[in-house]
Amino acid sequence: MHNITLIKGDGIGPEISDAVLQIIKAVGVDINWDIQTAGADVIEAEGVPLPQRVIDSVKKNKIALKSPVTTPIGKGFRSVNVQLRKELDLYANLRPCYNLPNVKTRYEGVDIVVVRENTEDLYAGIERQIDNDTAESIKRITRSASERIAKFAFDYAVNNNREFVTVVTKANICKLSDGLFLDSARKIGENYDLPLKEILVDNCCMQIVQNPNQFDVLLLPNLYGDIVSDLCAGLIGGLGVAQGANIGKDYAVFEPVHGSAPDIAGQNKANPTAMLMSAIEMLSYIGEKDAGQRIKNALFETLNADIKTADLGGNITCSGFADAIISRL
Ligand code: ATP
Repeated sequence: MHNITLIKGDGIGPEISDAVLQIIKAVGVDINWDIQTAGADVIEAEGVPLPQRVIDSVKKNKIALKSPVTTPIGKGFRSVNVQLRKELDLYANLRPCYNLPNVKTRYEGVDIVVVRENTEDLYAGIERQIDNDTAESIKRITRSASERIAKFAFDYAVNNNREFVTVVTKANICKLSDGLFLDSARKIGENYDLPLKEILVDNCCMQIVQNPNQFDVLLLPNLYGDIVSDLCAGLIGGLGVAQGANIGKDYAVFEPVHGSAPDIAGQNKANPTAMLMSAIEMLSYIGEKDAGQRIKNALFETLNADIKTADLGGNITCSGFADAIISRL
């Protein structure tokens, strides 16, 4: 029996969560779900979008599956996602990007895993206003954070039978900061049997667009990782199918890349695939690889049967899509 927190979120969060829970239940994995509400819907009663009980639940269970949680703009709340990452020290953002069958995209055979450092770089929020017309943001890179993310990327590569890791920087310009990130990747790479390739981020973007199939595992500092991971999501069909995970030493939170999609919330139109793909990665992480593979097979069969939600050009509902997958398990 696995104890896992489910953060239901808001917008389309509850509907895609229900779809995914039903599919996991049908595959027969024994999970005791600790269901936690969060986001816009809990602010009135609890004063904040991410109550402490949610963090406590993840700390207790160690693993969470999370659907999108909106951070209301301009109301003084800290970003829910940033807060979760900080409180749980989720230092690695992992985004496997590969083509799904019968989902039309510009490229075929894409299979890239983006590993993004999640805690520092320009996202550490070290900024200051020098005067009215000048502001600066500090790009902070440390050896310890760089080495641990490099180790994460190599471990992931080894455990998932990948062939090489490419470290992506702008070390020719940011010689000290990106230079340190690059140097850390080289040093960690010496402990593994896998090759480490090196590329500059601008060239990397061009190469991905020209031929994404030449890449395997990408290792990037925070800012480049943010941009390149969205670029890779775009290669495989966009938000409805892009999975993600934030992983630390003690905790792991699996979640789709997309937001709460308020424009289609409550209409049973959302595509649960991105959250389902995140859940499949979670099942693999907790040692339930076979169950994850069975769900993946059923998902692929469903897509191959041309059963798709509106974002992928079909007309099935969110719950109807889940039923179609369950019938193929
Ligand atoms: P955030 O700032 O929280 O990331 P956003 O407004 O940038 O949110 P999303 O909420 O992800 O982005 O939505 C962007 C567009 O993609 C919307 O039109 C939304 O309907 C669509 N979209 C996002 N996720 C899904 C999904 N799972 N199924 C169908 N459409 C989706």
